[in-house]
Amino acid sequence: MNCKRCNEELRDDWNYCPKCGERTRPMNPMPMPLMANVTPFRGGAIKINIVRNSSPNFQNQGVANQRIEEAPMKTYSEVIEPESELVQDKEGVKVQIKLPGVKKIDDIILKKVGESLEVNAYTGDKRYFKIVNLEKLNILKKEFTSEVLTLLLG
Ligand SMILES: [Zn+2]
Repeated sequence: MNCKRCNEELRDDWNYCPKCGERTRPMNPMPMPLMANVTPFRGGAIKINIVRNSSPNFQNQGVANQRIEEAPMKTYSEVIEPESELVQDKEGVKVQIKLPGVKKIDDIILKKVGESLEVNAYTGDKRYFKIVNLEKLNILKKEFTSEVLTLLLG
């Protein structure tokens, strides 16, 4: 799928375009859970086109009556946009992102995309996903305490 505004190629699980910031899906209802990956089976190839708000379109090539198995890899049943707030204290401007259930900082993956920061965090079968607009700021410090990720910006 591509961005409606700037035509940048987007991943289906992104809420925003990393290039222009356009929202790619409505706030409510919550994002559709991602479809489970399908393992390719022996003797044939399978293609799945995932189209939002419709059933997946299975194109079975060459082999009839094959069983489609759920992939053994972990899938996340819920993708949640976490609550966050901008605070300012004596250290500077901070973004605080609430990640209830996340146990350790290793379960949080931060990835800078242009002037945005993608925050991914995992707990149980939930996945948190948020894009923070950093503008020209850098992350000076990150801390994770009491299920809150705090990023000091400057
Ligand atoms: Zn865009």
